[in-house]
Amino acid sequence: MTTVLVINSGSSSIKYQLIDEEKQQLLLGGNLERVSNHVHELAELLPKLRADSRFVEPDVIGHRVVHGGERFSKPTLVSSEVLEEIESLIPLAPLHNPGNIAGIRACLEAFPSTPQVAVFDTAFHQTMPPASFRFAIDSELAKKHGIRKYGFHGTSFSYVTKETAEFLGKDSKDLNLIILHIGNGASACAVKEGQSFDTSMGLSPLPGLVMGTRSGDIDPTVVFYLNRELGMSVDEIDVFLNKQSGLLGMTGSSDMRDVFEKSRTDQASRDALEVYAQRIRFYLGGYAALLGAVDAVVMTAGVGENSVGFRELLFESRPLGIELDKKSNSRPNDGPRAISSAASSIPLLVVPTNEELEIARQSVLGS
Ligand code: ADP
Repeated sequence: MTTVLVINSGSSSIKYQLIDEEKQQLLLGGNLERVSNHVHELAELLPKLRADSRFVEPDVIGHRVVHGGERFSKPTLVSSEVLEEIESLIPLAPLHNPGNIAGIRACLEAFPSTPQVAVFDTAFHQTMPPASFRFAIDSELAKKHGIRKYGFHGTSFSYVTKETAEFLGKDSKDLNLIILHIGNGASACAVKEGQSFDTSMGLSPLPGLVMGTRSGDIDPTVVFYLNRELGMSVDEIDVFLNKQSGLLGMTGSSDMRDVFEKSRTDQASRDALEVYAQRIRFYLGGYAALLGAVDAVVMTAGVGENSVGFRELLFESRPLGIELDKKSNSRPNDGPRAISSAASSIPLLVVPTNEELEIARQSVLGS
């Protein structure tokens, strides 16, 4: 048996799962919310875990790390040199990497002889070609400072690609997919022959689709305008676009269930859902053009897997000739399934993601 302790030490929460990787079984898990001092909280949590009757000493500890820059394209065994490199990436991910690093440090202290592996959200996208990841700015400046598209949700896209291949009975190398990871955070990925070819997030998780609290794509001029005309500082604009925009900014709620419920009586919520859906359709069209042939469009994460009503709204206009089958669409979220009609131009699937299991698998590979 290989037991993996998966730690997702995020900007304001710490999620942990102890997983029997071979049996794909969750032994114990939990979630600490509103964390302000990671080192302190982890120092308290780890002895509590050890005292739990379900606890088994882990063979390896897997850490979710948001930003791996250009340096990390694989799960990587943590050493002091690796930790220093992850620290050097903080300017690229000031909201995320510090919490991840605190999680690694706390576990190194509590489990000094257990191998620790860093699994990066950006790693899956390191296969993107320059035409996808470059921004049209001064090439030398961009290269020197690592200013390019990295993409995120990589563990989810990697897991869903493999699950989709299994569901379709194909090798992932023979598949072109458009995967829509639509949760609180949301991004789209064009998967070409099983590898990431383009994705909607960028240097940070801010661009692309409309999210719970993030604006997604926005004209950069809005930033200049907010600064010059409204006197907002760069840090204030960072918070505004990352934490106060998206569904929250447009409707007062970041949660799809609330917004959908309110949309029955509230025009602002209906309008927001249309902005949210239109952005997704726009990326579907763009990625179909980049890929040429698309074997399936795949929906995953909280909204993608569960929101029957939103999926209906999204595909009502049959973008790209994709047609939903209402009956299959209303089935409960019970695993990978097709939800398109026989007349659909492209099969539409729902494939539930499992980022923790993927981190566990990659941690075993990387240890
Ligand atoms: P995170 O990015 O935090 O991991 P999730 O993938 O858990 O987010 O997705 C959270 C989103 O999924 C929320 O907007 C929530 O409303 C939505 N969601 C979860 N369950 C359902 C459901 N049964 N119906 C509609 N929306 C749902």
